[in-house]
Amino acid sequence: MVDWFTYKGDVLQLVRRIAKHLLEAGVVDGVVSGVSKDGKVSLYIVRGAVEVDESPLDRVLLHGYRGLESAVRAVRERREERLAVLVKPCEARAMVELAKRRQVNLDSSFIIGFDCPGIRVNNTIELGIKEAVSAVPSDELLRDACRRCEVHALPHYDVCISLLASPEIILVGAKTGKGTRVVKFLKESGVLSDRSPQELLLMREEKLRLLSENGRKNLREEEEKLLSAPSNERFSWFMSQLDSCARCGACIKACPLCFCKDCILIKERKNYSPSLFLVTRMLHMADACVCCGKCDEVCPKNIPLSYMFYHLGRRFTSRYNYLAGVDFSNPPRAV
Ligand code: SF4
Ligand code: SF4
Ligand code: SF4
Repeated sequence: MVDWFTYKGDVLQLVRRIAKHLLEAGVVDGVVSGVSKDGKVSLYIVRGAVEVDESPLDRVLLHGYRGLESAVRAVRERREERLAVLVKPCEARAMVELAKRRQVNLDSSFIIGFDCPGIRVNNTIELGIKEAVSAVPSDELLRDACRRCEVHALPHYDVCISLLASPEIILVGAKTGKGTRVVKFLKESGVLSDRSPQELLLMREEKLRLLSENGRKNLREEEEKLLSAPSNERFSWFMSQLDSCARCGACIKACPLCFCKDCILIKERKNYSPSLFLVTRMLHMADACVCCGKCDEVCPKNIPLSYMFYHLGRRFTSRYNYLAGVDFSNPPRAV
């Protein structure tokens, strides 16, 4: 049972307040963030509270990094450190899936997560957190992966921030012991107000329900469209996509779930045909893909990777009633 409190103010200031407290109180060694140069953002771990105000935490949450880094990957690659990370639900799902595979330690990391209505394509990169995670965009404005997203709430978090019910009265809740201690601190410091009114919680629930329903509808429509084509046409389309792969490995390096240190596909990629390379990767990801869309963003050949990976994966995982990253009790099925 989560206790929800309210915050009235600038959401980025709230995030900064939490990040500073985590560093000052020694809860974490660093906060996964970025450093801006020429309008682009590269990975940077903030180690001191004084650095937090200058750090583009909002930009990292909404649009990620230039290149192949991802915030979840940064936590995974530094799992000996205690790091705080800002995530959207797909990234929280990646954290859960990685925890089940013993690749991240959720006890020592700190997840600050947001309910997510869907991220718009790059032309609205200037939006701040308030605008981006409160309003529900129409389907045409969304990234492909967000259009078919089934999970808009965080499956796991330490602190959750939700602007879905209202962009002005922000809901803040904690799920874990360390999250509860941070919320208590914010409450005692006067940052958070009293418990949230019930009607705001109900509005949030209803928005989350509608968002998931819409994602499942779009997923079904994509699948119906795919299956309505004759099988030889489907096969040709699928093969043409596979054959256009340049085996550059960018999708592997960008994927938060690809964690093998000695990835045979990367090492031996020039010995694989493009189709074998991609099919092997799809099999490895069959039960793990969380449809975050990171691979779509880095593929130089514009192959609709999240579309292919997720549809293929769902055909496999629906047999086991398995959805990647949504609960801890269901063990991975393909490893
Ligand atoms: S896939 Fe898109 S809508 Fe779903 S949680 Fe991730 S960013 Fe949000
Ligand atoms: S395969 Fe693509 S969409 Fe799936 S988890 Fe990896 S990067 Fe995200
Ligand atoms: S990023 Fe695109 S071109 Fe590069 S290996 Fe992945 S699918 Fe192939």
